[in-house]
Amino acid sequence: MNPTTSEFHPLAPSVQSVFDTVTARDPHEPEFHQAVHEVLHSIAPVLEKHPEFVEAGVLERLVEPERQVMFRVPWIDDAGRLHVNRGYRIQFSSALGPYKGGLRFHPSVNLSIIKFLGFEQIFKNALTGQGIGGGKGGADFDPHGKSDAEVMRFCQSFMNELFRHIGEQTDVPAGDIGVGSREIGYMFGMYRKITNRHETGVLTGKGIGWGGAQVRTEATGYGAVFFAQEMLAVHGESLEGKRVAVSGSGNVAIYAIEKATQLGARAVTASDSSGYVVDESGIDLALLRQIKEVERGRIVEYARRRPGARFIEGGSVWETPVDVAIPAATQNELDFDSAETLVGNGVRVVVEGANMPTTPEAVEIFQRAGVLFAPGKAANAGGVATSALEMSQNASRQRWGFAESEQRLRDIMADVHHASFYAAERFDAPGDYVVGANCAAFERVASAMLAQGVI
Ligand code: NDP
Repeated sequence: MNPTTSEFHPLAPSVQSVFDTVTARDPHEPEFHQAVHEVLHSIAPVLEKHPEFVEAGVLERLVEPERQVMFRVPWIDDAGRLHVNRGYRIQFSSALGPYKGGLRFHPSVNLSIIKFLGFEQIFKNALTGQGIGGGKGGADFDPHGKSDAEVMRFCQSFMNELFRHIGEQTDVPAGDIGVGSREIGYMFGMYRKITNRHETGVLTGKGIGWGGAQVRTEATGYGAVFFAQEMLAVHGESLEGKRVAVSGSGNVAIYAIEKATQLGARAVTASDSSGYVVDESGIDLALLRQIKEVERGRIVEYARRRPGARFIEGGSVWETPVDVAIPAATQNELDFDSAETLVGNGVRVVVEGANMPTTPEAVEIFQRAGVLFAPGKAANAGGVATSALEMSQNASRQRWGFAESEQRLRDIMADVHHASFYAAERFDAPGDYVVGANCAAFERVASAMLAQGVI
């Protein structure tokens, strides 16, 4: 459930008027309000230190996308019927580099969701330290149950409009929910045909054989686990022997489970929108990947084929007692009640693999209980960071191996952790990764905007 505007905490007077303008201008965008509020709530100490950011109207400009595009996506299904979906690309900020952020294909997609994701992306990308701006896009198309040919026709129609707004120096989309290497392949093919350019760096998440980067597929899930490792290391601990709950069973979830298992933890859950499975002997990744990546089936299949595993229809994965929770499905999936249950069961670390999966009330519960909590804009930055490595390899026509790419990802996640952790200390909120990540990222973006003048 999205919180309503009246449920948000009051803001410092210097930023309340910015928030009021956002909610008055776009009153029907609750997810976007939630994402903006979280940032505005955290950055007061930066504004105190840098009154020049306020004078230059950095905030007023930052909450308004540089450009937003909405377009018709018509396509024909296998039975010859016409469908019309709505496509989006929000180009939020290019202060640090070309717009960069994924494309989401899911029936719930609307302007509010794409704007919240694009806004988050500005700060996430800034935290990586790479030269990438923030953007996001997608469509209210549901790939579930569609044939390959239908998905291909949809992707081609989508790119038939999107191509005029993107480019390797302008805007570089990637995958997100419902968009994996299959969809990126179909879109890249159409871009190449329309433009008559083999512009490899225009999309990331490509297949390894045609411009893709090693570790991009694994990067978001692996990165979230590396971030958890860094958080625990501050307290002299590791993942060894810890019980982990992961939600979702898509790209982020699968590779979070894989890396957590490799580092000696036991991941005992996975889920999809129909329910979740608990497997006390540890999730069997080969089986999960077969069901989700090959057969594109439902999670109940896992429990049917795996002795000892249980399927709980419609239940919340957060009912499972664990040390570490990694929400890796979708926004606002971990609410107040789930947070209370997790805390009651002794959770120690919560790392957001998904974007904004934890409601503001749930974040408060974790922070009050002293749970180590990492926001997605820091913890899941490994995906976009590795996308930027893919862009570098495309531009220089180099190819790095798996081990080298994984080490680069590990180093970037250590840097993101370092930046968030020390910004929290500098701004008098030690241990608060939400404040730390927002302040570190905002300082970087705002400094660039100040230097580049009012545009
Ligand atoms: P996928 O499409 O690969 O997987 C999404 C998973 O979440 C599926 O198991 C899906 O189940 C479940 N899910 C999606 N929507 C809902 C819902 N409304 N209720 C319950 N379950 C749901 O997506 P990704 O793994 O790529 O993305 C997961 C999250 O991580 C998203 O928030 C995304 O923005 C974020 N993220 C992804 C990055 C990436 O590199 N892929 C990078 C950074 C963040 P079902 O199949 O039943 O819908």
